[in-house]
Amino acid sequence: MKRVIATLPGDGIGPEVMREAVKVLVTWDTHENHFPQETIDLCKSSDAVLFGSVGGPVAHASEPRWKDAEKNAILGLRKHFGFGVNIRPAKIYGNLAALCPLKPEILARGKVDMVVIRELLGDVYFGEHRTEGDEAFDVMHYTVDQIKPPLKFAFETAMQRNKKVTVVDKANVLDCSRLWRRVANEMKDEYPEVAMEFMYVDNAAMKLIVNPSDFDVVVTANLFGDILSDAASVLPGTLGLMPSASLSDGTLHMYEPAGGSAPDLEGLDVANPIAQILSGSMMLRYSFKMTEEAALIDAAVDEVLNKGFRTRDLLLPGETEADAIGTAEMGDRIADAVAALHK
Ligand code: NAD
Repeated sequence: MKRVIATLPGDGIGPEVMREAVKVLVTWDTHENHFPQETIDLCKSSDAVLFGSVGGPVAHASEPRWKDAEKNAILGLRKHFGFGVNIRPAKIYGNLAALCPLKPEILARGKVDMVVIRELLGDVYFGEHRTEGDEAFDVMHYTVDQIKPPLKFAFETAMQRNKKVTVVDKANVLDCSRLWRRVANEMKDEYPEVAMEFMYVDNAAMKLIVNPSDFDVVVTANLFGDILSDAASVLPGTLGLMPSASLSDGTLHMYEPAGGSAPDLEGLDVANPIAQILSGSMMLRYSFKMTEEAALIDAAVDEVLNKGFRTRDLLLPGETEADAIGTAEMGDRIADAVAALHK
């Protein structure tokens, strides 16, 4: 089936890592190799958006043409297309555990492999903001209709994984959190196999550090998710391993690495393309329901990492830059592994 994908590579390392993601994805269909312009019209006419990273050169960030590059691009896209559910898997790869900042004894408690699901278009960020003299107000606001999509996605994701959902909130204090709990309890009956727990956000922040293997699917509101998903993104040890997806309630969804455009790495062939490649695999899974193909890409990434191939950000203690492979070679190796597994 022919699918049109808007690839928006952005700048910095965006184009480099995007090249590698496209290299891996076209393994499935070499007839469709679409490198379109970065335009909303293009996205509208596409089946999915595979986004690189954008930020503009840090040294020139104050120049008018780079002002708010990230905000305009990402928030504009999110808002325009209503990408209201953000998904960030955070996983510690077996042979890369030394990259994780947590102590080995914590990691020995179990496999760290979670998905953080964050509501993106509601909460205090989108409520009324106002300052009156020495007082300031930011209104936290949620509707049932905003809460349902992330929860539904959390339950459905849990069904594909270890069937556990942790709803993170502050229900001892906040009405919005109590509304989340009400909706979660109402929806839970549709997923009898899923174990659901509620956890206060302060407790969740601690558990993320002392017991990260306890989590399977974490779902939460915009503000708490902003903080917790960044905390979870530290666990794999590098942003180069962190893909993400932002889903709308329609059919157009966006996929992008959790990191930025890393201008410090631009043009050096050292950026890790895996976050971008795994964003591509999420695209196959969520936009095109190509579950097997997505699983093959994930398995190919595992295989290449297990064989010890590493970009610079993945080097373990004792290894030197001479042990690292470049962005393009990592993409080649994963594309080759996909092709071999596909046979
Ligand atoms: P960043 O994520 O670009 O970089 C943070 C650190 O992670 C750097 O040390 C970088 O080298 C490293 N890193 C990031 N991606 C990597 C990869 N694929 N492989 C290896 N190492 C990687 O964050 P920053 O430095 O705060 O921001 C840089 C620019 O990116 C800014 O202009 C910012 O506005 C923009 N930004 C864009 C997005 C986005 O497009 N979604 C997100 C965050 C930041």
